[in-house]
Amino acid sequence: MMVIMKKDATAAQIDHVVDRMEKVGLKAHLSVGEYKTVIGVIGDREVIDRLPIEVMPGVESVIAIMKPYKFVSREFQSENTVIDVGGHKIGGSHFAVIAGPCSVETDEQMERAGAAVKEAGATFMRGGAFKPRTSPYSFQGLGEAGLKMLAHAREKTGLPIVTEVMDVRDIDVVCAYADVLQIGTRNMQNYSLLLEAGKTGKPVVLKRGFGSTIEELLMAAEYIVKGGSREIILCERGIRTFEPMTRSTLDISAIPVLKKLTHLPVIVDPSHASGKADLVPPLALAAVAAGADGVMIEVHPAPEEAWCDGPQSLDGPTFAALMKNIKAIAELLGRSIGE
Ligand code: PEP
Ligand code: MN
Repeated sequence: MMVIMKKDATAAQIDHVVDRMEKVGLKAHLSVGEYKTVIGVIGDREVIDRLPIEVMPGVESVIAIMKPYKFVSREFQSENTVIDVGGHKIGGSHFAVIAGPCSVETDEQMERAGAAVKEAGATFMRGGAFKPRTSPYSFQGLGEAGLKMLAHAREKTGLPIVTEVMDVRDIDVVCAYADVLQIGTRNMQNYSLLLEAGKTGKPVVLKRGFGSTIEELLMAAEYIVKGGSREIILCERGIRTFEPMTRSTLDISAIPVLKKLTHLPVIVDPSHASGKADLVPPLALAAVAAGADGVMIEVHPAPEEAWCDGPQSLDGPTFAALMKNIKAIAELLGRSIGE
């Protein structure tokens, strides 16, 4: 249920409503908009019904949220969420470009990748230290040693780092280095991981499960909110279909659908969606044009030598050329890259 406060409701009136809810064991989430404050309520339906909220001072109306996801919905918050990571913003008019290798390999590789993506204008750097590989015999990532390399690259570039956490047992170590946590496609419905990630206070990039619906993605985001964080970036990274020409099928329509249903930023990963470097630029540009709030792109200083996902990685010059076109389309649509 949602309580819409009047335009001129005072802070004391808002506190009073929240207080009354909490006293009977309900949970209140505030959304403070430019004009109005909305209080989202969760808890026992009967307890909610017994509370005379409509007559409390400052309350304009009370409406039920019909969707199964509540706090990530546009009904709860009509304004776009803008996430600010040390001055690097995503959401609203701020378009983000997250770029870097699939996996962290060496200090030298990270330094070269960092220099290339920074120079081209990326606003965040990516790189995996814990890698979810289909085969248990493939390279699994460098773990904490890789996180340290990411931190070195951050020192050199000044770009915040986005890196995957695969397991609740690794949350503390990943949080010691990461600016933004990534939850990968295979873990989108790992509910204990989602709850724990929500407790960390770090923004989370939540990738859509390759076999998950848009509604399931939104429900997964709702788990992160339940954990305690509303700083969530949804990522469309392709879904599994009957089509074998690409690694996955980029669901381009997920972008406008999500933008309608949720206030959270939506980004697109054309690298994992296509699996092929030559398909990454057109898909990235399509994502910008379709209204995405950012893209995540795999960039490696020498893709043919990459330990992981080389065939879908762009080299520095190709990424730099793509960035020019991303910027042109983003600006045409009223977005600026980064700040
Ligand atoms: C990744 O971004 O490195 C990754 C493994 O992506 P996904 O979870 O989308 O496969
Ligand atoms: Mn990869």
